[in-house]
Amino acid sequence: MSEATHDVVIVGAGVAGALIAKRLTAAGLKVLMLEAGPASTQRYTDYLAHLDHFHAAAAKGAESPWPPALGAPQPDSADLALPTPQLPATNGYFIQRGPQLYGSTYTRTLGGSTLHWLGVSLRMLPEDFRMRTLHGVARDWPLDYATLAPYYEQAEHEIGVSADVEEQRYHGLSFRPGYNYPMRRIPPSYSDQKLAAAVDGLRVPLGDDAEAAVRVRTYPAGRNSTPRRGYEPVGAVDLVGEDDRDSDAEARTSDLGGRCQGNTSCTPICPVQAKYNAGKSLAQADRRYLTIVPQAVACRVEVDGGDGRVTGIRYQHYADPKAAVFEEKVAVGRFYVLATHAVENAKLMLASDLGRDDDALGRNLMDHPALYAWGLAPAPWGAFRGPQSSSGIEEFRGGRFRARHAAFRFDIGNDGWRASTGAPDTTVADAVLNRGLFGAKLRDDLAGTLPRQVRMSLAVEQLPDPGNRVTIDPAHRDAFGNPRPVIDYRITDYTLAGMAAASEAARAIFAQAGITDCSKTTTELPFPAVDYAQQTFRYHGMGHFAGTHAMGADPASSVVDPDQRAWRHCNLFVVGSGSFPTMGTSNPTLTLAALALRTADRLITDARR
Ligand SMILES: Cc1cc2nc3c(=O)[nH]c(=O)nc-3n(C[C@H](O)[C@H](O)[C@H](O)COP(=O)(O)OP(=O)(O)OC[C@H]3O[C@@H](n4cnc5c(N)ncnc54)[C@H](O)[C@@H]3O)c2cc1C
Ligand code: SF4
Repeated sequence: MSEATHDVVIVGAGVAGALIAKRLTAAGLKVLMLEAGPASTQRYTDYLAHLDHFHAAAAKGAESPWPPALGAPQPDSADLALPTPQLPATNGYFIQRGPQLYGSTYTRTLGGSTLHWLGVSLRMLPEDFRMRTLHGVARDWPLDYATLAPYYEQAEHEIGVSADVEEQRYHGLSFRPGYNYPMRRIPPSYSDQKLAAAVDGLRVPLGDDAEAAVRVRTYPAGRNSTPRRGYEPVGAVDLVGEDDRDSDAEARTSDLGGRCQGNTSCTPICPVQAKYNAGKSLAQADRRYLTIVPQAVACRVEVDGGDGRVTGIRYQHYADPKAAVFEEKVAVGRFYVLATHAVENAKLMLASDLGRDDDALGRNLMDHPALYAWGLAPAPWGAFRGPQSSSGIEEFRGGRFRARHAAFRFDIGNDGWRASTGAPDTTVADAVLNRGLFGAKLRDDLAGTLPRQVRMSLAVEQLPDPGNRVTIDPAHRDAFGNPRPVIDYRITDYTLAGMAAASEAARAIFAQAGITDCSKTTTELPFPAVDYAQQTFRYHGMGHFAGTHAMGADPASSVVDPDQRAWRHCNLFVVGSGSFPTMGTSNPTLTLAALALRTADRLITDARR
């Protein structure tokens, strides 16, 4: 094995890896970054090819612009399935063992899953860190909101979050005096305003002793809006070196992405890069100290048998993304960071036999299983304008009821029934094929229907359950011989009762706003079903993987310490939402970004020692 020429080897160029790389290189540390996917998002011209791919795709799922390389396969919304006798479900990437379907995906291309995220950048509530103490369920984090608050601020500036502090003070969320987000909030859409006018102040019961007063508010978004004084928004980037710059691409990127343009395709691709993706952080890293090796699939963490120190990362370097041909190499550094995503981190560690003495590894996989509620507003509310969503209802995120059932939050869509039924195409098809409309009648019907479409996503909290886990099985391998993730997943009564409460709250909101509820015929939906208390819920995943290498104060029951350092490997840091002991209701990226920045500070201290 060669001598370490890098201070830190980072595996994975998603948001967690990119933020750490940026901070370490700013401190003058030499960083080698291995990335499984192609670097096809580094040049803006190549990025536009992804946009073309999206436009040409028949199905517009989250992965449609980001086709994977053969050696870096990824889950795809279209092939998530439970096994049946006819179809043993080995076609897709995940091997799902149920009893419920895990309904989420991620992307293995440089930039990671932020390439197709929506950009919702909520902080966790202070109470989310203390679930055991306050509500008697799950477990507490080994750190609290106050410890993470300065890193939340830094993450909000790195990602470029648009929000107004005054609107974000609820459920104990506090901010340093004088602090505000780097950019002003994305303005609420017309339909947000109409809904707010109709339902703000509505009191919704949450069990015997609790109720919440609804308020529609914009959520913090990782999309560029109007910057506050001194903040420079990062627009579209072009990561190639000066010599190699395509002047045309440079000209095109210079005035792009500085502001959100309301194109309504944040998921799965922002055409102008007004939405944050991890490539933006990499573009700001000090390139004198950063070497990125794309098309490098880490396949083994090499460990010294004696003291558990990591001695290298073995990886498969390929030239042709379509061929199963690669060369094996080893990357050596003083410290190592696994930032490959909650599932891939666990998979890589298990494939490296690091789970032998660590039963917690791969367990407690979580998501936010979510329901849709949709209906027709009493008048045109301007659907299909603005970002896919700009506001939410946050009142159900916290409260005493969490001792009994899950918390939940609502995203309010600006994109009609696109997500729930496939509108506008399905609305047109229904008018033509089922109701025989054409010509002026068809136009009038659509004009009277489409702008009235309202949709909410009801994302429900899930607690850690050791039985929900990622494992590997030598029988299931990908084209490079690496294991595919095997997933066991069930949704417990705690979350199902939360789904029931969320559905009830959605019905109350629709009734108050005069919205005709159209979300009753759930059997027609193409989403997995789960039964609870004589109801059938059709749910989907939110892409919020968490918990597979949870942090804790005790090595016996956790995989990493509060700095995300592996308890059993003193120079290995395992980062991302896999480190979350619980997830509450906030989308995970802002919190994992804050944790990553905290880990970077720890690494700088350790590396200088
Ligand atoms: C449709 C959708 C919408 C979402 N919207 C939101 C949202 O609005 N707000 C929010 O907070 N979160 C959202 N998320 C979740 C968010 O995308 C993730 O939380 C976040 O991107 C995870 O960051 P990460 O750096 O941990 O992993 P990733 O972004 O997945 O990055 C991991 C990187 O590691 C690389 N890699 C993987 N395996 C290897 C290997 N073996 N060797 C080398 N490299 C490897 C991958 O190619 C990738 O580049 C959404 C997810 C989905 C699917
Ligand atoms: S609304 Fe459009 S411009 Fe704004 S972030 Fe989303 S995709 Fe980008």
